[in-house]
Amino acid sequence: MAKKQRPGAASVLEKDDLIVIAGAGGFIAGALTRYFHDQGFRRLRAIDKKPLPEWYQRVPGVECLCLDLSQEESCQRACEGAVEVYNLAADMGGMGFIERFRIECLRSILINTHMIESAYRAGARRYFFSSSACAYNVELQKKPDCPALKESDAYPAMAERGYGWEKLMSEMVCQEYWVERQFETHIARFHNVYGGFGTWHGGREKAPAAICRKVIEAKDTGNREIVIWGDGHQTRSFMYIDDCVLGIDMIMHCDKLIATPINLGSSFLVSINDLVLMAEEIGGIKLTRKYDLDAPKGVGGRNSDNTFIKQVLGWEPSTPLKNGLRKTHAWIEQQYMARKAGRRTVS
Ligand code: NAD
Repeated sequence: MAKKQRPGAASVLEKDDLIVIAGAGGFIAGALTRYFHDQGFRRLRAIDKKPLPEWYQRVPGVECLCLDLSQEESCQRACEGAVEVYNLAADMGGMGFIERFRIECLRSILINTHMIESAYRAGARRYFFSSSACAYNVELQKKPDCPALKESDAYPAMAERGYGWEKLMSEMVCQEYWVERQFETHIARFHNVYGGFGTWHGGREKAPAAICRKVIEAKDTGNREIVIWGDGHQTRSFMYIDDCVLGIDMIMHCDKLIATPINLGSSFLVSINDLVLMAEEIGGIKLTRKYDLDAPKGVGGRNSDNTFIKQVLGWEPSTPLKNGLRKTHAWIEQQYMARKAGRRTVS
C-alpha cells in the first residue's frame, strides 16, 4: 500500500507563494524561516521588532523587515500579498521572564489581534498561531507526576497568569475568525522547545539552555557548583526544534486541524534534576547542586498528552532528549567561547 503523504506546505503551495513569518528574529520563527527556505520556497518575508543585527539567524535570500507588530499599520505592511501567515511573535521568555513581566506578556495580545485582521484583509489563505502549554489549567499541574495534559484540559480555564491568559484569549480570537468569517486558522500549543539559535543567557532563556550554559561555565571557571531553580523535582517535557518546525508545517496544512488547538510537544517527561544529570554527562563533569527555593520554578509538573496528534497526523515529536541536548550543548559552547572572545552572539 502506498504510504500516506504527510500534510505540508510542499504539497499545497507554489514555490513562489508568499509566506510571512512573524517573530523571525527569534528562536522558533528563525528556524521555521530556514526550514521553508530549505524546502525551496522562494518568497519568504521575515519580520521582527529587533534590529536586524540582533536576529538570532538570518536566512539568505529572505526579505527581512524590522517592524513592531503590536502596531496595526505594521501588521498591514507585513501581510501585504501573503498567502500564509505564521505568527510566532511574542514578548516572552522562560519562567524567570514570564513570572516577572506579566504586563509585557499580556500585551502580545495586540500582535495577534492586528496580525490576524491584517492577514484576513490581505486575503491570506491560512493563519498560524503559536500558543503554549501555559494556556492549560494550572490546577492540573501542581505535582511532578501529574497526568499529561490533553487538549480539553484548557477548560475550565485557569491559565498561567499573564502569559497563559494571553495565549488562551488569542486562541479564541483565531477560533472565532474561522467560525464567523471562515478564515482558516491553525493553533499549536507548544510545550518547551529547545535547540541551537535560541536564547541561552540574559534572563529569557529556558531550562535546557540555562542548564547547558551553567555546565559549560562551571567547566570553564572551575567553580564546580550549579544553582538549580526550585528543588529540582519539578518535571517537564522538551521538544527539539527540528520536531517543532516539522510539526508546525503539518498542523498548518491539516484540514482536520482548522481552528482546533493541538499539543505540539514531546511526551518524554523528565525532572529538572535528571536534565542536569544529562547535561553533566554531555559536558563530562560532575557538579555540586545548590537549590534556590526562592527562584521562579513554574508548575510542579507538565507533560504533553500526544494521543490527539498521533491520531490526526500519525506522528509526534520524537528526537531523543539526549541527542537534542548534545547538539544544543555543542552550540551553546561555541556561543560561550565566542562571547568570551568578545564576538557578537545570540542572547
Ligand atoms: P523568541 O523570544 O525567541 O521569539 C519571539 C520573537 O518575537 C522575538 O524575536 C521578539 O523580538 C519578537 N517580537 C516580540 N514582540 C514583537 C513585536 N511587537 N513586533 C515584532 N516582533 C516582536 O521566542 P520563541 O521561543 O521563538 O517563541 C516563539 C513563539 O512560540 C511565541 O509565541 C512563544 O510564546 C511560543 N512558545 C514558545 C515556547 C518555547 O519553548 N520556546 C513554548 C511555548 C510557546
